[in-house]
Amino acid sequence: MYYVDGEPIADTKSPDGPIETRWDRRRFGAKLVNPANRRKLTVIVVGTGLAGGSAAATLGEAGYRVKSYCYQDSPRRAHSIAAQGGINAAKNYRNDGDSIHRLFYDTVKGGDFRSRESNVYRLAQVSVEIIDQCVAQGVPFAREYGGLLDNRSFGGAQVSRTFYARGQTGQQLLLGAYQALERQVAAGTVETYTRHEMLELIVVDGRARGIVVRDLVTGEIRTDFADAVVLATGGYGNVFFLSTNAKGCNVTASWRAHRKGALFANPCYTQIHPTCIPQSGEHQSKLTLMSESLRNDGRVWVPLEAGDPRAPGDIPEAERDYYLERIYPSFGNLVPRDIASRATKNVCDEGRGVGPGGLGVYLDFADAIGRLGRDAVEAKYGNLFEMYERITGEDPYEVPMRIYPAVHYTMGGLWVDYDLQATIPGLFVIGEANFSDHGANRLGASALMQGLADGYFVLPNTINDYLAAGPFPQVDAGHPDAVEARTAVEDRLTRLLAVDGDRTVDSFHRELGRIMWDYCGMERTEEGLRKAIDLIRALRDEYWQRVRVPGSAATLNQALEKAGRVADFFELAELMCVDALHRTESCGGHFRAESQTEDGEARRDDEHFTYVAAWEWAGASAPPVLHKEDLTFEYVQPSQRSYK
Ligand SMILES: Cc1cc2nc3c(=O)[nH]c(=O)nc-3n(C[C@H](O)[C@H](O)[C@H](O)COP(=O)(O)OP(=O)(O)OC[C@H]3O[C@@H](n4cnc5c(N)ncnc54)[C@H](O)[C@@H]3O)c2cc1C
Repeated sequence: MYYVDGEPIADTKSPDGPIETRWDRRRFGAKLVNPANRRKLTVIVVGTGLAGGSAAATLGEAGYRVKSYCYQDSPRRAHSIAAQGGINAAKNYRNDGDSIHRLFYDTVKGGDFRSRESNVYRLAQVSVEIIDQCVAQGVPFAREYGGLLDNRSFGGAQVSRTFYARGQTGQQLLLGAYQALERQVAAGTVETYTRHEMLELIVVDGRARGIVVRDLVTGEIRTDFADAVVLATGGYGNVFFLSTNAKGCNVTASWRAHRKGALFANPCYTQIHPTCIPQSGEHQSKLTLMSESLRNDGRVWVPLEAGDPRAPGDIPEAERDYYLERIYPSFGNLVPRDIASRATKNVCDEGRGVGPGGLGVYLDFADAIGRLGRDAVEAKYGNLFEMYERITGEDPYEVPMRIYPAVHYTMGGLWVDYDLQATIPGLFVIGEANFSDHGANRLGASALMQGLADGYFVLPNTINDYLAAGPFPQVDAGHPDAVEARTAVEDRLTRLLAVDGDRTVDSFHRELGRIMWDYCGMERTEEGLRKAIDLIRALRDEYWQRVRVPGSAATLNQALEKAGRVADFFELAELMCVDALHRTESCGGHFRAESQTEDGEARRDDEHFTYVAAWEWAGASAPPVLHKEDLTFEYVQPSQRSYK
């Protein structure tokens, strides 16, 4: 038995009534905290990416006492810095028919009708405020000749609504959030703790009240307490070992909260991004994204004939297959990521892929360079072209880029209600760490939008409703629940060091990633998922008998850090496969081979699967419990998604 059924759950915080006014009404209905009382309330924010950085700065500005944690050496090294292409907002600067309703519609459809309408509508509403906020901070968005902010298109949309700062949008947005955070540090409302890793959540009387952290430099274990805890700890794509995520990205904070009672929603929804630099060999530990913005001007193609040995420049137009333009004429190269990735996999499976192992397709800028000129292409994408050349040694101005899908983003995460509160009262989850507004597939440029919507605008309003009942009774390091959490952390570190085996953490992680990619990656089958669960369990047992973690816990020890993260990945990986196995439909990033249309498109099963799957931890030796949150669609009617 892989799982058991539990009680259904509901999002009780989302108001009903007209969708346009729900957010206003929730804000009006939520309790407020008097400004003079805010300094008596403390909030821990774990994570300093776009979600956590913006939340900590905004809560500090509001007058709360904030403690901000991250494991990097500076808040501004959070993984958000890597985001390249842009951030969506329904500003309609291009006057091309965009509106809040259209962004809402595109996002619900893009997510394959597996997200909550209320949340997505709010996201689209708030998107316009984010741009104003960031411009006011001085974020240098690209501008048109006339001075207005420029826009470009991303997948799954027929309008231009993506704001960008060359190919380094995340970095510029993060510098904006970081400045706002540092202003609060100087003002004394925010304290930052860098190089600290949260290893456990402290729950007292059913409420999240603190965390256990390890100082990664000295090895010291500490407890810290607050009236509420916010997790903004990012996504878990690195469960696949190879992904476009920064090497440090992990699931530990979320997973520890899950083990303490927070439900984990839709873990199997993984985004495979279609345009990454193909893997070059077995030694590789990281994959590199080529931004989706490149599909505005780059054309994706493969040779018509399988096994064509000619160089791309020698293949005439008539012998090329621009397969996205052919299959999806209305969206062309800008179909959503799940669709583009699967189409790419299909042409490679037919033997028409290019480059080593046939695992690649061309992304060709020859037309764009001919039409716009090299300077214009360089102005838009210069740094991405440079990055590609540095990694592959090929000049994309001269020869087409080679790209292949890779793991990029996780739509699953801790379950939250409309207020972004998890099932543990006092625990709020924002950014990529929550199960988010993206349903089964995220549209490009929507993660930055969601992270900043959560951090600057949503959480700072909804958390008041919870904190209004505080301050809660004082808790200190001697409280039995704090002692228990701290002891659990120490015991686990000791256990990892005590194995003293003969295999590196990385060798296990790489093998786990391979299992996940083969059986829970771009295409999943019942047989494959069952096999994966067996393989993961066996490898996890082996891990606890053979892993070798050198050094001690009392010093800087990166092997030990990794070992804890990989131990959590093992447990998560099994849940991902169970989730994928139980969802016998295809939807968005979850493609079940048994559920496809005659022309190979994903076949959803709305009758049986229009719900969020929220999983409860029932202990290491008991199957997880499935709670379903039914999704209802009043404003966008679920239909067979077509981009043709
Ligand atoms: C290469 C790349 C390009 C992308 N480009 C785009 C784009 O153009 N547009 C777009 O919308 N999206 C893009 N994305 C997605 C987007 O960047 C991320 O989804 C988003 O930045 C996540 O932000 P976050 O604040 O939720 O988490 P992160 O930025 O990942 O931050 C996580 C934070 O949590 C901290 N943390 C984690 N665990 C712990 C712990 N246990 N203890 C203490 N601290 C912890 C980390 O130190 C860090 O500060 C891209 C992603 C990648 C990989």
